[in-house]
Amino acid sequence: MKLICIGRNYAAHIEELENEKPSDPVIFLKPDTAILLKKQPFFIPDFSSNVHHEIEVLVKINRVGKHIDKKFAHKYYNQISVGIDFTARDLQSELKSKGLPWEKAKAFDGAAVVGNWIDKSEITDVNNLDFSLLKNDEEVQKGNTGLMLWKIDEIIEYVSKYFTLKIGDVIFTGTPAGVGKVDVNDKLKGFIGEQELFSVTVK
Ligand code: MG
Repeated sequence: MKLICIGRNYAAHIEELENEKPSDPVIFLKPDTAILLKKQPFFIPDFSSNVHHEIEVLVKINRVGKHIDKKFAHKYYNQISVGIDFTARDLQSELKSKGLPWEKAKAFDGAAVVGNWIDKSEITDVNNLDFSLLKNDEEVQKGNTGLMLWKIDEIIEYVSKYFTLKIGDVIFTGTPAGVGKVDVNDKLKGFIGEQELFSVTVK
């Protein structure tokens, strides 16, 4: 399986990193080895001194598809969660300045937290979902999927032009504002509404 990640999908986050607003979605991949195993701590890698949390809504693909029209995109996923796209921001800035790919900063082992899944049937409107990240019990990021520049169905249409979507693939739909550094012993908890879907300790 693969993790397909969308960058720069919330206007306020684009502003906080002083990035340009993209004319098309920004896409990158993480390998399955990036998934942080359940109940394991996240270890800050020794090649970075500025790892950021990015909470994101996740979508799990349940049908094989290519060139999916956005009208039919809702048939290709059945579960929703939140996760963290951990990013070695110092390394990413260096790679960006050289025009190089971001993988070393984004796709390293443990860099993808995947929360517990909720069936889509339990969700009234996927385009109006509140989600948030608590760091040491204080809210540091919150978003609503209504503020995405590209909505879930549009993301599925766009990414499936390039990559065949397979059962079990996970899409990270982009982070809202409020990204920040994690430190040893931080405790990160991700929520959709009031429902806690993951808890991770930083080591
Ligand atoms: Mg991200």
